[in-house]
Amino acid sequence: MKKILIVEDELSMVKGLKDNLEFEGFETDTAMDGNLGLEKVLQNKYDLILLDVMLPGVSGFDICKTARKEGVITPIILLTAKGEEIDKVLGLELGADDYITKPFSLRELLARIKAILRRPPIGKEGGVEPEFIDIGNIKVNFKNYVALKGKNEIKMSYKEFEILHYMYMNAGKIIQRDDLMSDVWSIDYEVTTRTIDNFILKLRQKIEADPNNPKIILTVHGVGYKMIL
Ligand code: CA
Repeated sequence: MKKILIVEDELSMVKGLKDNLEFEGFETDTAMDGNLGLEKVLQNKYDLILLDVMLPGVSGFDICKTARKEGVITPIILLTAKGEEIDKVLGLELGADDYITKPFSLRELLARIKAILRRPPIGKEGGVEPEFIDIGNIKVNFKNYVALKGKNEIKMSYKEFEILHYMYMNAGKIIQRDDLMSDVWSIDYEVTTRTIDNFILKLRQKIEADPNNPKIILTVHGVGYKMIL
């Protein structure tokens, strides 16, 4: 049974989500403030986390950031209130997988939860992957989210790992920006082609010998990208 953690401070929302998710066959756990939420995120194993942004104690953004820093790779859907100025790029950088704006319909939330749970977990396709994979200038361990250049660890965000992994799994094929949008982010996420191009730019700076003359992540003009290994 898939287990979902609900971190939300509004009692009626917690009850509604809990009842409905359990009715749909999920197991649930709840935390009604940021401190307890963070504790549960770091200590327990879940298949998915629903994370309110505005929480007493630690904010949803900070929980998300800390969780990723500590190596928690559980998918996270942020719950944001209408009118709340949410910096979408910030949300992406912090490693959230999706967000949904309140008030939302249960059907919409369930569709997003199911879309995320359908995705194969990163690093697990086909079972065994070697510990470290050579990609350009760096060695990457997709299971533990570690990237090394020589002996030095280089900093990569959760999303950068996800995009790199997606490209690695599709190496040699043309990857359209739309593919990246729908497969690495949820379809509804407001990702622009500009966001994707910025991520590619950052990845090239990390993996290419000469980022201005890329040999690994090639641009396919008018279409997208192609990874050559
Ligand atoms: Ca709240």
